[in-house]
Amino acid sequence: MNITSRLPEVGTTIFSIMSKLALEHSALNLGQGFPDFPVSAKLIELVHQQMKEGHNQYAPMPGALPLRKTIADVIEKTYRQKIDFETEITVTAGGTEAIFASISALVNSGDEVIVFDPSYDSYDPAIRLNGGVPVHLNLLPPNFSIDWNLVRSKINKRTRFILVNTPHNPAGAVLSHSDLKTLETLAAEHDLIVLSDEVYERIIFENKIHESVLKYPDLAKRSIAIFSFGKTFHATGWKVGYAIAPQHLTQEIRKAHQFITFSVNTPVQLALAEFLNDPENYLHLGKFYQQKRDFFLESIKGTSLQPLPCFGSYFQLLAYDERFKKSDREMAEWMTREMKVAPIPVSAFYKDQSDHRLLRFCFAKTEETLRKAGEILKKI
Ligand code: GLN
Repeated sequence: MNITSRLPEVGTTIFSIMSKLALEHSALNLGQGFPDFPVSAKLIELVHQQMKEGHNQYAPMPGALPLRKTIADVIEKTYRQKIDFETEITVTAGGTEAIFASISALVNSGDEVIVFDPSYDSYDPAIRLNGGVPVHLNLLPPNFSIDWNLVRSKINKRTRFILVNTPHNPAGAVLSHSDLKTLETLAAEHDLIVLSDEVYERIIFENKIHESVLKYPDLAKRSIAIFSFGKTFHATGWKVGYAIAPQHLTQEIRKAHQFITFSVNTPVQLALAEFLNDPENYLHLGKFYQQKRDFFLESIKGTSLQPLPCFGSYFQLLAYDERFKKSDREMAEWMTREMKVAPIPVSAFYKDQSDHRLLRFCFAKTEETLRKAGEILKKI
């Protein structure tokens, strides 16, 4: 049979490839981003309780009401922005679905979407599957900041969307107040929709403050902010996230969401609603992960691997030196097979073909895992 692939050059995601390789070679998996420590026993108990009480049928398409109410409450406390839980929140099957539903609902054929590389690997295919044209602009290392002059020079009549990510996966960069002000001005000037991936909103270090698009009322009017309970509550496998957007955008996002997943699993949503009510369950996440970042950095001291600045997310980039005549993909595979520790090669996050000689390590791991990884990396 003749099939014309819509994504001919796309293979399996790098996260699945590296996790499989890590498993095959019994390597420590610091590649795919997920915690190796348990979800709160209390949260698990809450899910169990909801199931036993019989909350096992479809949730409302936009999300369980108690969860949307609590989200609105938390958003107001955190970002001082009032959100209407009826018309501005959509609970999705993880951040990835929220991104996909937003793009499929709002990108029209031929629309240009500005994306900053390194970028999360789902953005580009999601745009292209929906007829959009991704325009990839590189962030400026070592801080991975946005070159706003470059952005200005790339905006034209076809530019419809700009996709930002803060705290940034894989670079660990965070956008500043001045970035958000520039974004606000540019988006208004050119009537752009802003898709803001903020799934690591609470994993931010050095007393930095997360600059959500929701904090800027003029920007919030034209933005979709994406969040993830997987990241905040160490439950990436539950696949629950949400999109916040003004009514006219939410209305469109829901049109796509209802035909992608329809609704998200009920007992987990109801349990999350209860768990989210207690700020103690999320307020200390930045400190928690900063300790892990520092523990990891300490455990790799003295190796030839050079850490890049990391202000948020649970990823640390490490640069390797010229002694290694390997591309980052070869380096990641070699480390997994021979050294038994798996990272993600950063070139997987770039459209350009140059080799960035950077590896991403996930430090959402127990100290024992991080210590073992450090011991291995010291031998490299
Ligand atoms: N967000 C996670 C990461 O960046 C993985 C997501 C996935 O495996 N699709 O590693």
